Amino acid sequence: MSILNDVPKQLFIGGKWLDAEAGATMPVDDPATGEILCQVADAGPEDARLAEEAAVAAQEDWARTAPRARSEILRRAYEIILSRTDELALLMTSEMGKPLAEARGEVAYAAEFFRWFSEEAVRIDGGGYGVLPDGRNRMLLTRRPVGPCLLITPWNFPLAMGTRKIGPAIAAGCTMVFKPAPQTPLTSLALAGILREAGLPDGVLNVVTTSRADKVVEPLLRGGRIRKLSFTGSTQVGRILLAQCADTVVRASMELGGNAPFIVFDDADLDAAVDGAMIAKMRNMGEACTAANRFFVHSSVADEFAVRLAERMGALVVGPGTHDGVDVGPLIDDAGRAKVEELVADAVGRGARVLVGGATPDGPGRFYPPTVLAGVDPASRLMDTEIFGPVAAILTFDDEDEVIRVANDTPWGLVGYVFTAGLDRSLRVSERLEVGMVGLNTGLVSNPAAPFGGIKQSGLGREGGRVGIDEFLEYQYLAMPVK
Ligand code: ADP
Repeated sequence: MSILNDVPKQLFIGGKWLDAEAGATMPVDDPATGEILCQVADAGPEDARLAEEAAVAAQEDWARTAPRARSEILRRAYEIILSRTDELALLMTSEMGKPLAEARGEVAYAAEFFRWFSEEAVRIDGGGYGVLPDGRNRMLLTRRPVGPCLLITPWNFPLAMGTRKIGPAIAAGCTMVFKPAPQTPLTSLALAGILREAGLPDGVLNVVTTSRADKVVEPLLRGGRIRKLSFTGSTQVGRILLAQCADTVVRASMELGGNAPFIVFDDADLDAAVDGAMIAKMRNMGEACTAANRFFVHSSVADEFAVRLAERMGALVVGPGTHDGVDVGPLIDDAGRAKVEELVADAVGRGARVLVGGATPDGPGRFYPPTVLAGVDPASRLMDTEIFGPVAAILTFDDEDEVIRVANDTPWGLVGYVFTAGLDRSLRVSERLEVGMVGLNTGLVSNPAAPFGGIKQSGLGREGGRVGIDEFLEYQYLAMPVK
């Protein structure tokens, strides 16, 4: 596969491709076979220090570039990404497992962040000039980049998680140290190559791939030179990193876990609800923080919904993401699959009925079949654990207040899905759900032009939308006497 040969496998620091200290490397494997695809550089703390130094050195000049110049770099990168859709999709499928059709969809989604932020780069303004209420002073407001940023991404959307952070950082004039997930470094290295081709100056983006995230990241967060952390990953790791940020008061954006409720009322269009469930559950094999984790279906339609969902789930083709006609690829790694198995066993042990799936196939690869569980006991572990796999757990309800109470009874608050025909109920329930995003009669909310993010322990800040760039900017206020 030529894309695997062509993709850079070294660290990208100060505009150069470099080996890690002592030539350390780490393997990247194919989740569909378990076979090792290649080795990439495995950065240690000294490599990270060099990357930080490059980002710090480049910051002042980069902050002074014309917004239009930054915008055009992003626009060129957007076009290059789209022109390489097939190669990038294949690279993602190889290291992450998702079916090629989904990987192509991710390329378009990922590229769109660059187009969106190329458009935002030229619209940064402080929004204020005027006389203050006391009449004695004037105020001038301007906005400037927050400074060198550390970007940490997960493996589930290898390209889009990178562009969602790098896009606004470039637009705002920030330099970066980017640490992608160890499972999917290749896509991030390919992205660095594309940005270089698009004209990004040396040192603005530095990429450190590593299997030793804790050793590499902590010194950067405690060192006082990184001014901003943008993290997407688990709530558990997010908490650790927030604590590390506290030392030098690093500004933090956090996109953490979710536990999305998917609520189907008795007046819902069941066709739309089943379609929505397929997307909200099965996009990315269920390996998304927006994945529907708990299905609450009104008791009058629950049986029909469950049977129809099980039929659709059972018809999906499971196999290597590179094969034609495959709908569901492998899960990312053995630990990810073992967690799904344990959660299903726990729910079944508490009386859940398996309508389809539920058994791990023999053979290589980390495959797990689309699974529907009905009659799930609310005490089951999957009610308060992100499943991160193709398992739909269905419970029933009768009363609106009750379902809202149960849906909100979780420390997470990323997204919720609501299916109902009534406008009043749509708005009433959406407003009462403790979540940052609601899919109203739809199973897909993610869009680069909309603010993505959660409340409670699902995170801090928003990515995308008009506000996405705010995370990378600081206000400066100038006071001047009126004379
Ligand atoms: P997941 O369970 O989806 O892999 P994680 O939160 O473990 O989510 O990982 C998300 C990102 O955080 C990855 O890039 C990973 O390498 C990084 N990471 C994990 N642990 C730490 C840590 N202790 N310090 C810094 N980064 C970490």
